[in-house]
Amino acid sequence: MPNLNHSRRKILRNSLQMSLGLLGANLSLASLAQSSGARPNSASPSATTTPVSSQTGAMRLILLGTAGGPTPKKNRAAPAQLIMIGEEAYVIDCGNGVAQQIVKAGIKLSTLRHVFLTHQHSDHNADYGNLLLLAWAADLSHRVDTYGPAPLRKMTRLFQELNAEDIRIREQDEGRVPFSTLVHPHEIVRAGVVLQNDTVTVRAAEVVHPPVQPSFAYRFDHAGKSIVISGDTTFSERLLELAQDADVLVHEVMHLPSLEKLLGTEPNALRLKEHLLASHSSCEQVGRLATRAKVKKLVLSHFVPGGYPYLEDQIWIDAVRPFFDGEIVVGSDLMEILV
Ligand SMILES: [Zn+2]
Ligand SMILES: [Zn+2]
Repeated sequence: MPNLNHSRRKILRNSLQMSLGLLGANLSLASLAQSSGARPNSASPSATTTPVSSQTGAMRLILLGTAGGPTPKKNRAAPAQLIMIGEEAYVIDCGNGVAQQIVKAGIKLSTLRHVFLTHQHSDHNADYGNLLLLAWAADLSHRVDTYGPAPLRKMTRLFQELNAEDIRIREQDEGRVPFSTLVHPHEIVRAGVVLQNDTVTVRAAEVVHPPVQPSFAYRFDHAGKSIVISGDTTFSERLLELAQDADVLVHEVMHLPSLEKLLGTEPNALRLKEHLLASHSSCEQVGRLATRAKVKKLVLSHFVPGGYPYLEDQIWIDAVRPFFDGEIVVGSDLMEILV
């Protein structure tokens, strides 16, 4: 590697991490933060946040974490969403800290009923087991069904083995219901309906997030309303189909100009950019898909960069607006949207 000083090496190392799907570019980017009007220690304003309330027939969508990538960030929590339907919570993705984010949102962990993983990247699954265990250690005592790509069953079993001692002690000492009887994992092997009950239909579509296969997006339909969660993907015809006429599309997004600054003139910058574009979505791709799908509200989330540099909301809106003239919401942690 030719004559790179320390900071350049550090930046390049972060670039390489990103190229490997380890989207943790929250180090060594102070200069970029300044040039982009970064706000590293403050949460995004959430002008569209709706006060916590429950409306009959409505779905409450809560963005639990809105950063992209597995590295813990100062400004945004790891990817996770919660949809409250009636008194039951549906959690989509389990990034680090998901249980605490649910508590911060004012939702009881005992309302957890269904958990969905979009794919097996650690920013989306790191706290899959922890969410179940901590909810059980709180007050959860009913069945929870979980859905996601393989090896979901093995992960569930091994997590129980890993925590067998705590589980044994709490079952004996606190009289808790057997943990092993509560959790029912369902591995999704193909697109289509993955859950249908009296209130909701959940469909999965396989999206494009190499090299992670399969990776899914999910659509929730309830009482004539719909929410689509993109998961991680570059432009995907199947997601376009799944998201048709959705009331809300929560879509991952990356800001290419910021990434280009990050990559700078590194000899492999073009290749790294191509790699990111192959598995994630630019602002233009997100906007164009939302337009073609005729979604009513586009909610941006899973921001890359998601930590440093912290991009102001307007930067994201300006980048998507030329390609989508509907409502754009720049997601922030704990933002609630009634659907
Ligand atoms: Zn991700
Ligand atoms: Zn991913």
